Amino acid sequence: MKHTHNLSELLIDLQSARNAALVVGAGVSAGLGIPLGYEMPIKFGQTHQALLNNLGLRKVWETAAATTQWPQQHSFVSALVEKFDKSIELQETLLSWLMGYPAMQGKASDLHAILALSWLSQVFHHLITTNWDFLLETQLDMVYEQAYTGDPFQPVEVQLLTGQSILLKAEHLFFQEHLDGDDYAWNPRWDVVANQRDLIAIQRWTRPLWKIHGSPFFLACPQCSGINRWKRQEDLHVGDPCPEHAHEHLTAEISFWGQGIDTAYPAVWNRLKARLRRCDLIVVSGLSGTGSDAYIRLAIEKHPNAWLVNPTEGAWNVHQMHFVEAGVQELTAALLEHFPS
Ligand SMILES: [Zn+2]
Repeated sequence: MKHTHNLSELLIDLQSARNAALVVGAGVSAGLGIPLGYEMPIKFGQTHQALLNNLGLRKVWETAAATTQWPQQHSFVSALVEKFDKSIELQETLLSWLMGYPAMQGKASDLHAILALSWLSQVFHHLITTNWDFLLETQLDMVYEQAYTGDPFQPVEVQLLTGQSILLKAEHLFFQEHLDGDDYAWNPRWDVVANQRDLIAIQRWTRPLWKIHGSPFFLACPQCSGINRWKRQEDLHVGDPCPEHAHEHLTAEISFWGQGIDTAYPAVWNRLKARLRRCDLIVVSGLSGTGSDAYIRLAIEKHPNAWLVNPTEGAWNVHQMHFVEAGVQELTAALLEHFPS
């Protein structure tokens, strides 16, 4: 039987949860100008006609661009993704184009701030995103920038664009590692996991932000855990030598339409799946769960206490979960109201 629920019920359940996870997808960033689904690759084709010609993708793009039908659009997108793996020129051009997308680098956003900070303050113990954009990371970065300029023992008061504020405890931001004598290291609590090599780097005090579809801002190096191009002064490109390992060449670290971390990095997905299984509550928002994201949806649907907060049920089996018909704006408004500050 299908049950519909409301946000108050979710918040009550969340307050008693000891190990909750938050899983977010494209829907949480759509309002900031990051297009959903195939809109992006088709737009890329439109602005890169000569490159499409060279790759022999012009015809299939024309068919895709002239229709709203999924099969034709899908044919183009899967052909593009197939070429991506083989063409350095396409990798570099497509990634640079995505990186230049407004909002992809991140900007102040109350919605993302509330999601990121409710994770930092341990309302949620796990944060998983399928998004390529750096909107969550930007908010975390701003909090730490504020924390580093002040007294590390003091809580940080984060001001939202609306003028409301969120108070974060120092112990939620830093782990105080005892060194020799009276010395302590203030280790930040967050890091990003995008690939298999990042798993090794997880410290016992770090809380990984699972960025399971990578990002155009990531370049992988087989020696180190990859290079983040976000806010980097140095201009780095696909195929360049790694700045730390001159004999290694940087490759793209992104999962495209039709790809998933279950096949790209099974070890990462298995680790994450085990964590999700141990959770006592999972909240999903802005994730359609269609197409190549079905593997995430199926894992979450199996959980005995999964909540879907989406404007529509979409592909989700709402008979197996708690469905709250609401957008991410309503979810963040409810979280802010219950914030322990
Ligand atoms: Zn390296």
